[in-house]
Amino acid sequence: MIQITMPLGFLGTVYREIRQSLVDMGEMFRLLDQPAEVSDRPGAPALSVPRGEIAFDRVAFGYDPARPILREFSLSVGAGEKVALVGASGAGKSTIGRLLFRFYDVTGGAIRIDGQDIRAVTQESLHAAIGVVPQDTVLFNDTIRYNIAYGREDAAEDEIVAAAKAAQIHDFIAALPEGYDTQVGERGLKLSGGEKQRVGIARTLLKDPPILLLDEATSALDTDTEAEIQEALRRAGQGRTVLTIAHRLSTVADADRIVVLEAGRILEEGTHDALLARQGRYARLWARQQAERAA
Ligand code: ADP
Ligand code: MG
Repeated sequence: MIQITMPLGFLGTVYREIRQSLVDMGEMFRLLDQPAEVSDRPGAPALSVPRGEIAFDRVAFGYDPARPILREFSLSVGAGEKVALVGASGAGKSTIGRLLFRFYDVTGGAIRIDGQDIRAVTQESLHAAIGVVPQDTVLFNDTIRYNIAYGREDAAEDEIVAAAKAAQIHDFIAALPEGYDTQVGERGLKLSGGEKQRVGIARTLLKDPPILLLDEATSALDTDTEAEIQEALRRAGQGRTVLTIAHRLSTVADADRIVVLEAGRILEEGTHDALLARQGRYARLWARQQAERAA
């Protein structure tokens, strides 16, 4: 009984977190109602990720075949590269994240990780290779230690502390009277949005995935919290390939490459400075967000 319910409960929670970050409400119910749209091929091998390169190769996809969202979409992310996807709402940013996680299969082209088509490997190994830092981390009514170690129940204390330190949440925890034994969640200490997110980052770091998929919170955090989260994410990304779905440009200015999407197509790409110099769409979006911040 326990052997069966534990992993299912775990999967349910992981799905809930990912759904919250990558999937909108309508789609969430569709996912629950319908049988899985994707399945493992018989005898599929595990994904092997020695480098962490991601390639979207002429990908085509539409939720409705009559309405394509991506056509011939190509994007290569190098090992250890930090790429940010920006663009107006509806441009296709979250869809790209969902396809990488294989919530859906592409209808044309392929997505490869270190040369392996993600349809040819087990979903379990694909999901283990991609750490998702959701917008909203689900906390259990348990200790903060349990919440960080969740999904890695074998983690040693020093690994948990190292993950918390990298996620910029250790000092906060250490200052609590009961430290890592503090009860959190609805029936315990309520954490702020920024603190919860850092617990989520620590949880992801403990799993040590070679690829990080970040879905940035849309809600504005206060400037102090935002700086701490940015530092946590910067440290989390070290030595990993990072694909960030970004809503605010201020948080992606230091990405290796910023990809500006419009209607499923890449409009422009480059570093923050190169895109500003281009005086195109990114430069206009940047000027607008700077003006909004100042207002
Ligand atoms: P972004 O994340 O850039 O705001 P999305 O990838 O969420 O954009 O959406 C891209 C397009 O796909 C939009 O036109 C959106 O309406 C559509 N879309 C997103 N999810 C679904 C879905 N589950 N079913 C049908 N259409 C969807
Ligand atoms: Mg989105």
